[in-house]
Amino acid sequence: MIGAGAFCGVHPTVGAAITCQRCGSFACAQCVEVHEGTEYCANCYQREFGGKASSRAVTALVLAIVGMNCLWPLGIVSIIMATQEIAAIDRGESPAKGRPLAKGALILGWILVALTGIAVVAGIIFAVAMAS
Ligand SMILES: [Zn+2]
Ligand SMILES: [Zn+2]
Repeated sequence: MIGAGAFCGVHPTVGAAITCQRCGSFACAQCVEVHEGTEYCANCYQREFGGKASSRAVTALVLAIVGMNCLWPLGIVSIIMATQEIAAIDRGESPAKGRPLAKGALILGWILVALTGIAVVAGIIFAVAMAS
């Protein structure tokens, strides 16, 4: 239970009704969001269930998809962005909605890097074969 003197993190003059079960901050009755029996503050609820994937998650995936179109080195950028985004989601700083996008970008990114590696090796083999 909430002791007297605990106030909502968003509304400093309103007494807290719950503590968020994710971040532990106080929330008033107006701010509490309940999902499958778990009480969240408005911020955590927004991060977990509301809102949209962050622009970084979307950009990472878009770069990976554009990269499929023969811009394979973009895969490296995609991997870096997706890795940062997944780490941010794990820290609760980015909306969880972006996780599947970031994971897709990561997988595509590695495929692109693999293709780049194959292309480079093939190019070297070709160049060696031509030279001899
Ligand atoms: Zn919270
Ligand atoms: Zn409040």
